[in-house]
Amino acid sequence: MGRQGLQVETMEKEAVDWATTYRKRLAEVEDAIAAACRRAGRAPQEVRVIAVTKYVGPERLGDLLAAGLRELGENRWQQAREKLMRPEAGAATWHFIGRLQKNKVKAVVRHFAWIHSIDSVELGTFVAAQAAAAGREVNCLLQVNVSGEATKAGLPPEEVSAAAQALVRLEGIRLRGLMTMAPVTDDPESVRPVFAALRQLRDEVRQQLGDPAFSELSMGMSDDFPAAVAEGATMVRIGRRLVG
Ligand SMILES: *Cc1c(COP(=O)(O)O)cnc(C)c1O
Repeated sequence: MGRQGLQVETMEKEAVDWATTYRKRLAEVEDAIAAACRRAGRAPQEVRVIAVTKYVGPERLGDLLAAGLRELGENRWQQAREKLMRPEAGAATWHFIGRLQKNKVKAVVRHFAWIHSIDSVELGTFVAAQAAAAGREVNCLLQVNVSGEATKAGLPPEEVSAAAQALVRLEGIRLRGLMTMAPVTDDPESVRPVFAALRQLRDEVRQQLGDPAFSELSMGMSDDFPAAVAEGATMVRIGRRLVG
């Protein structure tokens, strides 16, 4: 085979291998989740993997779906839009996980089944109004700044209960639980108290609301998801480990 032929063959191979690569990485992540669940006495089915696809372009969407990824997370509307325009986008459930600007809400509620980043009563009320106007019901999580870092988005923990009470009965949204981002650290075990605090807060607010559907804990990313699973995560948002 000539040099040209070899090159073409190599390129084709790379093209078909993305789905395999994603599938392998997903299997590794699922193994790690299963191990963390075993140690914590949880069932692995309690944990959903949200693949954060912000690192890849829209041309990879088919490979992500072929790898078995069905729950996809994006943190910016502009980037998400290109993927959502593709015909295969309807096969996935979309999660909006980033800071949400008001002027993007109308578009976001039309395409995303979940919003993880409601960080004020004002934003939640606005999302609810836009969703109701569009005849939609969007699953929403309140983002909590557990660690209190100034650079982090999210409600202070002490404001979460009041915010949940203010939003729980609005048409257009369904309050489903809490989300947090742990501080960046070299030692994931050191952030376990952050995850444990979010779980406690979820338990308290669920009881106050008397709503068993307020059950989700979106916490854990590539570097810290086993610790989050050990503390009760029901959704882990994984980017680099899957598609980086
Ligand atoms: C990018 C991002 C993630 C995924 O982070 P990785 O470290 O790449 O796994 C999770 N949550 C949010 C809000 C993000 O923006």
